[in-house]
Amino acid sequence: MGEDVKKLKHHLPLLDYLRQHNWIARPAGRSSEFVGLCPLHAETRPSFYVNARKNVFYCHGCGRGGDLIRFVQLSRNLSFRQSLAYLEQATTPPDDSAAAVLHKTAAFYQQQLDRFGRCTTEGKFNLARTRACFRRFGMAVVTVAA
Ligand SMILES: [Zn+2]
Repeated sequence: MGEDVKKLKHHLPLLDYLRQHNWIARPAGRSSEFVGLCPLHAETRPSFYVNARKNVFYCHGCGRGGDLIRFVQLSRNLSFRQSLAYLEQATTPPDDSAAAVLHKTAAFYQQQLDRFGRCTTEGKFNLARTRACFRRFGMAVVTVAA
């Protein structure tokens, strides 16, 4: 479990997570520190500090602090285990990863080729008939002048 937690935090730094959730921050003096309004309690003057290097937060307003998992626990009212599961799911790349997109594209073209094959083998090649066939499949025939 310890390794997983470390990996998780490495993949999703606290600051990135907060920014993804619209936390607006400004640098707070020291280079790796940021300050903004606390997402955990209502306030008008920023007292929520994040140390990006240490990957921790501390709020001087409500006195709460900790790491990313602690933040998820507090902000989403989840247990430690639930927070881990939530974060693991949040850091898993969605299905539109490059490989998935390529796979889908290849499948699409394969399908089009199959249809094309069917259209051009329906009897002798005939432009009008091929056009009609393509239209049936929602495709268009583009004739290229030689
Ligand atoms: Zn607070």
